[in-house]
Amino acid sequence: MEKGQLRAYKAHCLILPYPSQGHMNPMLQFAKLLDHKGVRATLVTTRFLYKTMHSSGSSSAAWETISDGFDDAGRGDTNTDIYLRRFWQVGSKTLAELLEKLSNSGSPVDCVVYDAFMPWPLDVARKLGIAGAVYFTQSCAVDNVYYHVHRGLLKLPLADGHSQISLPGLPALDPLDLPSFVYDCRSYPAFYSMLVGQFSNVDKADWVLCNTFYELEEQVVDWMAKLWRLRTVGPTIPSNYLNKRLKDDKEYNVNFFKSDNDACIKWLNERPKGSIAYVSFGSIAKLEDEQMEELAWGLRRSKSSFLWVVRESEATKVPKGFIEETSEKGLVVSWCPQMEVLAHEAVGCFVTHCGWNSTLEALSLGVPMVALPQWSDQRTNAKYIMDVWKVGVRAPTDEKGVVRQEVLEQCISEVMEGEIGEEIQKNAVKWKELARKAVDEGGSSDKNIDEFIAKLQNKS
Ligand code: UDP
Repeated sequence: MEKGQLRAYKAHCLILPYPSQGHMNPMLQFAKLLDHKGVRATLVTTRFLYKTMHSSGSSSAAWETISDGFDDAGRGDTNTDIYLRRFWQVGSKTLAELLEKLSNSGSPVDCVVYDAFMPWPLDVARKLGIAGAVYFTQSCAVDNVYYHVHRGLLKLPLADGHSQISLPGLPALDPLDLPSFVYDCRSYPAFYSMLVGQFSNVDKADWVLCNTFYELEEQVVDWMAKLWRLRTVGPTIPSNYLNKRLKDDKEYNVNFFKSDNDACIKWLNERPKGSIAYVSFGSIAKLEDEQMEELAWGLRRSKSSFLWVVRESEATKVPKGFIEETSEKGLVVSWCPQMEVLAHEAVGCFVTHCGWNSTLEALSLGVPMVALPQWSDQRTNAKYIMDVWKVGVRAPTDEKGVVRQEVLEQCISEVMEGEIGEEIQKNAVKWKELARKAVDEGGSSDKNIDEFIAKLQNKS
């Protein structure tokens, strides 16, 4: 649609992600999908983040801001508990003001789509008579684990020597397959409360939306859909890669990190098909010095060339001389256009921390994975990658929890070549096709989004 052209929108959704990369990306992508289907979608973030973020393309999304109480200098190293409380308090007030402003300016909001990490926008919406849809940005399997903790159905802390854990719709899990905030429920109390608290008012939400697709998590989705009006709407992967109908839209990520996209892609263009191990640990994970060193030496030992994302804050952990020494076979960058990289034919595997977005992106683009989960939901995702979807291997750790260099070398070659690799690559292609079907017209996620929109229209 040309800028300035008037459009009769079917409804108006305000989309409110938790302010971090891994939450803003999928919710931006969901907003784009809604917009494409004729629903006006306005994204909301904090005033501070709005000033600092860069999008990866032309800015076509509509943004509004609210306050988290840290408008001028950001939250810095404010304790998470304090930050979340302040955001709740100041955010509720400024969100209500925003909703009223939009109503008075002739574009009233029909539904607030809010991140499950922050349940309070539902209360704000309700007070103003507006519908609310909670949006889960993690897998349904992981959500189900937190749900059981919330309802007291999974007792924590786990008893010493606790063996396998059986939850409906999930494969048997070892304690170490559980999200780290559950397994180790005392180490990050603020995150623990936030994640378990996702279910505090979910019963009151008009919709429960999840960034996954039915075929990927069939059993757990069926089980959870008995509790709420749960609908899978993913993967919200950049449309130009997955959803053909939006193929010219370049703005699919919000980036807090600068990246030389052209240099990365040019480097990949010069490499043979399937020859590169792409390595990234997302936007938050911090590796122990020893792990970083082993990772570096493992990449040097590997037969494959590599593209390694080391965020600026992690750069000092790269062994001295490594970059110069390996410049023939590897490129180290501080950030990259991950989707374009995963979609590039030179990439043969993804050494990943298994953040849910990275997992879903690799699955949807058919890239086999070497899983090195760090914390949060990543271990559960790694379990699924290896044992359920069979699209990768989980790199074993030693007694100190470190993946050693020989192990990494072995895992990379296992997924890129040989019998196991062939099987994994076949499965990766299968999931890629299923993901595409889910979002194509009439696919499971596409139908769910259409149903959501139809109900919204009837409400408005
Ligand atoms: N990402 C990116 N460039 C990079 C590394 C990551 O664009 O160099 C994006 C990636 O595509 C994903 C998000 O950042 O959408 C990371 O989300 P994820 O859930 O995987 O991990 P988190 O950062 O939340 O731990």
